[in-house]
Amino acid sequence: MADLPERDARVAWHPYTQHGVETSPLPVVRGEGAWLELADGRRILDAISSWWATLHGHAEPALVAAMHEQAARLDHVLFAGATHEPAVALAEGLLQVVPKGLSRVFYSDDGSTAVEAAMKMVLQSWVHRGEPERRVFIALEGAYHGDTFGAMAAGDPDPFFCAFTPLMFEVRRVPADAARLAEALEELGGRAAGFLLEPLLQGAAGMRVMDAAFVRSARALCDDHGVPMVADEVMTGFGRTGELFACGRAGVSPDVMCLAKGITGGMLPLAATVATEELFDCFLHHERSRFFPHGHTFTANPIACAVAVASLALCRERDVAGQLARIGRTIFEQLTPLQADPRVTNLRHLGGMAALDLVVPADDAGYLSTRALTLRHAAIERGVLLRPLGNVLYALPPACTTDAEARHIGDTMRALVEEHA
Ligand code: PMP
Repeated sequence: MADLPERDARVAWHPYTQHGVETSPLPVVRGEGAWLELADGRRILDAISSWWATLHGHAEPALVAAMHEQAARLDHVLFAGATHEPAVALAEGLLQVVPKGLSRVFYSDDGSTAVEAAMKMVLQSWVHRGEPERRVFIALEGAYHGDTFGAMAAGDPDPFFCAFTPLMFEVRRVPADAARLAEALEELGGRAAGFLLEPLLQGAAGMRVMDAAFVRSARALCDDHGVPMVADEVMTGFGRTGELFACGRAGVSPDVMCLAKGITGGMLPLAATVATEELFDCFLHHERSRFFPHGHTFTANPIACAVAVASLALCRERDVAGQLARIGRTIFEQLTPLQADPRVTNLRHLGGMAALDLVVPADDAGYLSTRALTLRHAAIERGVLLRPLGNVLYALPPACTTDAEARHIGDTMRALVEEHA
């Protein structure tokens, strides 16, 4: 095990990793609760839920049991022309907890494909309705919706996707401002396909919190203009904003909702694009050519669905959203001494997320800020896994994080500011 980093360096290509600059990856041998154990025996607190996925904690026994049981009974079967209990039970369960009006669950594999499916559904529905010129989505500045082509096009090209810009389809970009959204809808008129947003919290943009009033205005504007509102709750879903869904917290029902990451408690890849009956009905037809031509091999994988059913039960039993809100508050309390610190701005928390921006020279701000790597290493030295988004230092740990662990995360963030800002 000691030679894992060397073996990795010879064969692996890591995501969102600058090979040649970043030092070797952490050799992780075990996960339990909020903790990761490294090959040398060190224990590290997973304060970012392993890319916002791990919901209850690593190796949550109820999920491990569900996985074992389902794997032994039915490991996999295609979901075209076949169905199974875990997929149906999960859809039934999800529809009980998502905002009113959503009634159909389309499964895929990850956040990017959930968004990709959502955009394709909306675009094809316009073709079926006889308005094929409605092809332009409106999306937010700083948006991040995933790495496949449709999701990339919906995302802000800066800083990740500039290399692909010439290949992107047209997307109109607006700030989280109702007047600007209204203007874009007005200008696009009959070319507007829909509005796509990460409600309340834009994650990869740097944990930007938006006013719930904007989400409500956006809902009203979409209604006025007769276009669907697509909520990407890949990150915000399953309690991260302090309620089960950010749309619920904001008091709106979207026409389409994208779920992934925490849907299986973060244990297995699975995603769901949840749509209204109205959208589903656009595809209901006696002509075979009108079906939705999207489906991945592992659509609705029974093991992933069974784990997701078990995770949903835990969300209810344990009030995961409430637990996350407690954790976010506790971390934030440890950060409050930084309130008037000139090295820090924009201290904030929402649900299970607490964040601050380090004040850096303008040419070192943003995702590629040189601070990110220094801070990441310093956090590991203190036994905490943090992954700053450039000069944005944030935490978003799993719901099993204790008050003492949450305080340790907050203290670590404060120490990083004191030592490295
Ligand atoms: N949407 C949002 C809001 C996300 O945060 C992410 C991932 N960080 C995605 C989509 C893409 O999800 P995945 O990485 O599972 O494809």
